[in-house]
Amino acid sequence: MSDGSGGRVVLRVEDLRVHYHTGRGPVRAVEGVGFELRSGERLGLVGESGSGKSTTAMALMRLIRPPGRIEAGRVHLDELELLALSDEEMRRVRFSRISLIPQGVMNSLNPVMRVGAQVADTIEAHDEGTDRDSLRERVRELLALVELDPAVARMHPHELSGGMKQRVGMAIAVALRPQVIIADEPTSALDVVVQKRVMDTLFRVQKELDAAVILVGHDMGLMAQCVDRIGVMYAGRLAEVGPVRGLLEEPLHPYTRLLVDSLPSLERRGEFRGIPGLPPSLLEPPPGCPFHPRCPEVMERCSESVPALEPVAAADGAGERLAACHLHAEAP
Ligand code: SF4
Repeated sequence: MSDGSGGRVVLRVEDLRVHYHTGRGPVRAVEGVGFELRSGERLGLVGESGSGKSTTAMALMRLIRPPGRIEAGRVHLDELELLALSDEEMRRVRFSRISLIPQGVMNSLNPVMRVGAQVADTIEAHDEGTDRDSLRERVRELLALVELDPAVARMHPHELSGGMKQRVGMAIAVALRPQVIIADEPTSALDVVVQKRVMDTLFRVQKELDAAVILVGHDMGLMAQCVDRIGVMYAGRLAEVGPVRGLLEEPLHPYTRLLVDSLPSLERRGEFRGIPGLPPSLLEPPPGCPFHPRCPEVMERCSESVPALEPVAAADGAGERLAACHLHAEAP
């Protein structure tokens, strides 16, 4: 793994905002998210449910459905500005340049279609001229790539285990060799051993394709074992971004510190728990820093202005560290 500082930038997200429009007003699910992803890098987006991590993933794919709407932002994928593409242009980019292994992929497979036909559909939707034999061969290769037996092509989803279905989802997501793969909680429904195997496969496939990965999840411990950098999300914003090791050893944002402290120390594996208070309402977010009602280090200015995500010099000096916290800002 790298610290994310090598490689060229393949994806640059700037000031992304996604709101869900309800009768009571807009729910600000994603509010000004920005980050970069480099070729070959694995970035983890971690946060509690409702922190905006899955909405961010769906927005990058332009799959937000009403009453949700992308209100603002830019998503540069190499030379393309994804938010400026027409729906048809975006349809062509999806899967071929940027792809998603969705949350609950196991339930997103068509129950009445054979697995091979579902993988073939994705290829055909982008490459209509492919003849039957090459298509069959391509499906075989893809199943082998995700470590599934070729016989799986003739099976229906209900004949597969959870881990196998997850691999089929992976085969579909990488069928067109995308540069960026987004995996949204890809293993949350699987037991720990299967989780590890599926993740290993995902990262081997990533290497073979030379793709970058955004891994979305809520398990900080699992994330720490898998990615190069972590972006911690809170209330629709990024609270902190940095290389895994530095972020775990010297968290800069009080929220990250509480998350890290809540992990069992030996393996640093576990889920969020033990942070007093509740995440704020995104319908009526608190003024200033969204974490201020729960923050043990709250100061007067924290309820007055929203801290920007800015570079912070950290003791380890390895890789860029960013935090959105007034503790690290210059005096006003
Ligand atoms: Fe806590 Fe203030 Fe930093 Fe927010 S800005 S995390 S309230 S110290």
